[in-house]
Amino acid sequence: MSIPDAMPLPGVGEELKQAKEIEDAEKYSFMATVTKAPKKQIQFADDMQEFTKFPTKTGRRSLSRSISQSSTDSYSSAASYTDSSDDEVSPREKQQTNSKGSSNFCVKNIKQAEFGRREIEIAEQDMSALISLRKRAQGEKPLAGAKIVGCTHITAQTAVLIETLCALGAQCRWSACNIYSTQNEVAAALAEAGVAVFAWKGESEDDFWWCIDRCVNMDGWQANMILDDGGDLTHWVYKKYPNVFKKIRGIVEESVTGVHRLYQLSKAGKLCVPAMNVNDSVTKQKFDNLYCCRESILDGLKRTTDVMFGGKQVVVCGYGEVGKGCCAALKALGAIVYITEIDPICALQACMDGFRVVKLNEVIRQVDVVITCTGNKNVVTREHLDRMKNSCIVCNMGHSNTEIDVTSLRTPELTWERVRSQVDHVIWPDGKRVVLLAEGRLLNLSCSTVPTFVLSITATTQVLVTLKLFDNPVSTFLDEYVASLHLPSFDAHLTELTDDQAKYLGLNKNGPFKPNYYR
Ligand code: NAD
Repeated sequence: MSIPDAMPLPGVGEELKQAKEIEDAEKYSFMATVTKAPKKQIQFADDMQEFTKFPTKTGRRSLSRSISQSSTDSYSSAASYTDSSDDEVSPREKQQTNSKGSSNFCVKNIKQAEFGRREIEIAEQDMSALISLRKRAQGEKPLAGAKIVGCTHITAQTAVLIETLCALGAQCRWSACNIYSTQNEVAAALAEAGVAVFAWKGESEDDFWWCIDRCVNMDGWQANMILDDGGDLTHWVYKKYPNVFKKIRGIVEESVTGVHRLYQLSKAGKLCVPAMNVNDSVTKQKFDNLYCCRESILDGLKRTTDVMFGGKQVVVCGYGEVGKGCCAALKALGAIVYITEIDPICALQACMDGFRVVKLNEVIRQVDVVITCTGNKNVVTREHLDRMKNSCIVCNMGHSNTEIDVTSLRTPELTWERVRSQVDHVIWPDGKRVVLLAEGRLLNLSCSTVPTFVLSITATTQVLVTLKLFDNPVSTFLDEYVASLHLPSFDAHLTELTDDQAKYLGLNKNGPFKPNYYR
């Protein structure tokens, strides 16, 4: 397969034994990686604290408190045209076969496959980098022998990712990382195409873990790669199938939450498998966080509230990549935007970009919209919520539902009224209403769609990292390579360094063009 260069990605296969080194790797590596600890350090003790929230075989009762963090924190409506209410029979109770006679899947309704195929084909239009990777393989199967268990949102875009892995020779078994986000018709199309997919929209918590288990626990088939979004699958395999875990050749993790859990495991010396952190790649940080949010913040707000932004006062908490994207979109529509920040550098950037940097307390009485994107907790407290004006809209663009103290609103004196899907009016005794979106969860993933093109960048990184972990030669300059694969979509023409210029800048003509710490 014609992927340039054959040097290993920094960090892969190294042993980081000390927390300090791991923190440094987190900060400085070109694509931050979680690396393997020596095998002798693996421990599978029953009382491991990091797994105390995982379900046991005691059944549903114990499951009810243990639903994965990611499965609730990052759920997505993902524009599914089907929902769980169209049929009350659980997919687990149904006997379904695809047109080739296989029943190696569990989806809502296999008959929706044709519709799902159209959705996948539409997504492919904006995911040309993945299609080009399939073509570049030219019939070669660089992933032949790869047995991948995956756990991601199951949408048209991830279907393109899964089918690319299959086209490159992998066998895949897939479940959903979130109980709400599966596009049922897409899951059906994957099942019809022969992918062992176990997912439907509106799974119970018990279903969620059952689906993951069905992917891993299969007679005569043993996974050797994990592709995860949130870490639930990884930890299920680690906890329930230690012998399988030991033989895993690599873990590809996409989310902040999953990466955090892997670092915990690594710090404890219990990670015996090379793992790669796609979340911290330059391409994800620069594109997913900034441009995705710039494109989707208004969509999420408008679909839920029909609000007009011209002249509205909006406070955005956090001026990182996500905050910058949100503010750019709001400013373009004529909103008056205030920023809160804890970091003087980001605060200064906000000033330079023409925003007023304030404390939340200073503007909370006057603003029409409050948006959090800090990745922090309790940024908007009950005190702030008490002081907001009538009809103030409150929402979150950060990963977890920790930024707005929603729990503090579940008190007897406040009335909750569900006015639309994902829209609650919280009503104070004096009649004041605060409009809470998606119960404080990620607004764009809960209430709008996200641009396919941005997902293509992350999915391409995931495929290349999978190839790399499966011992294929892949460019060291992976982020630059991923970006270059997306340039043809814009008919962008890259300037080549002359020999003289390359020498002057001290660069190789073929890259990397930026240092490892470039963000
Ligand atoms: P970032 O670290 O670049 O920015 C967060 C900013 O918040 C930082 O500048 C930090 O100084 C500031 N901050 C922290 N605590 C604060 C507080 N109490 N008050 C005010 N400011 C505070 O991170 P990012 O890339 O912008 O991501 C932010 C969050 O959004 C993360 O949780 C991330 O996982 C999530 N995210 C969401 C999407 C989406 O589609 N909605 C996409 C990518 C990332």
